[in-house]
Amino acid sequence: MKRTRIERPDGRYVYFYSLGAEPQVSDVSAPVRKGEQIELRWNPLLDEQVIVSTARQERTFLPPPEYCPLCPTREGLHMATEIPAKDFEIAVFENRFPSFRPDAPEVSDDSPLERRARAAGVCEVVVYTPEHDATLASLDEGRLRLLVDVWADRYAELSARDDVTYVFVFENRGKEIGVTLTHPHGQIYAFPFVPPRAERERASSERFARDHGGCLMCEIVRAERARRSRIVTENDAFVAYVPFAARLPYEVHVAALAHRPSLLDLNKRERADLASMLRVVQATYDGLWRSPMPYTMSMHQRTSKGEAAVGDHLHVEFVPPCRSRDKLKYLAGVETGAGTFINDTAPEEKAAELRHAHAQWSAGG
Ligand SMILES: [Zn+2]
Ligand SMILES: [Zn+2]
Ligand SMILES: [Zn+2]
Repeated sequence: MKRTRIERPDGRYVYFYSLGAEPQVSDVSAPVRKGEQIELRWNPLLDEQVIVSTARQERTFLPPPEYCPLCPTREGLHMATEIPAKDFEIAVFENRFPSFRPDAPEVSDDSPLERRARAAGVCEVVVYTPEHDATLASLDEGRLRLLVDVWADRYAELSARDDVTYVFVFENRGKEIGVTLTHPHGQIYAFPFVPPRAERERASSERFARDHGGCLMCEIVRAERARRSRIVTENDAFVAYVPFAARLPYEVHVAALAHRPSLLDLNKRERADLASMLRVVQATYDGLWRSPMPYTMSMHQRTSKGEAAVGDHLHVEFVPPCRSRDKLKYLAGVETGAGTFINDTAPEEKAAELRHAHAQWSAGG
């Protein structure tokens, strides 16, 4: 894997990753960032941080392909895009509308109840391909495999930064969940704190290790494989299943079969198996109703600072916001106001439905 780094005039970097030729870098001009407000505000009632980032209001909203900021900068285009090259394999750049930035301003508290923190950290965009209309499932095996290596490289580099505590790799797909650019891409948020979901999983895993010994996720994987009724599919290194207490009908978790705290702990064969599993899950989703399934994909792995905990176990959570082909699941009072999810379906039924869609897809139709 080759890596080329370039700096833009506005101070942001772009990385090009390739297996073949390095890209020819062209125009690097980009609008200079304005003085926007960016900070963390603490919610004392919930004891949690909220990111306040006013630059994000300016984001490009569903532009036509000729104005896509994630396409390569080709000759005859109306403007330079975020990718200053005519062609590339995978590109990573600092988000122009970040929630954290390395140069975030210092802040101070207004009062004991109005506390702020610096929104230090990094937000990156990972562009999977120069092809505007591709999907994760349509990428070839080699590109997907490169993507896993790119994630691992970003995880390692961002984890090493002093201002980063947790590296969160994710993808939002579909306008149903508010995606503003359809070009295939994911994101990485290098957090200055451990985000609450990761912290909660960590605390539960610690409790499990204290009470029963061992890793909670290893135990879940063992139990799902013994029971089989919620498994969608598996390969040599990963299993995809609908969790016992799925919050949403089509939620699917992909977990490493062996205990692997992070991407960096996967061997080459396991990285290839992760790549192919992610493509299989997306193809299964898209085959279900023969249309692209919207979802959020979140990767959970060990924190970037301190020792790995016994329960740090790499897994990827796919959460589509759908109840059925034409019905979206909206988070309403019980979910947002009380914090408890109501799932209108049995996870075992949904797993059977997805297993069937997977079988059809692997049979080629
Ligand atoms: Zn595009
Ligand atoms: Zn484990
Ligand atoms: Zn998780």
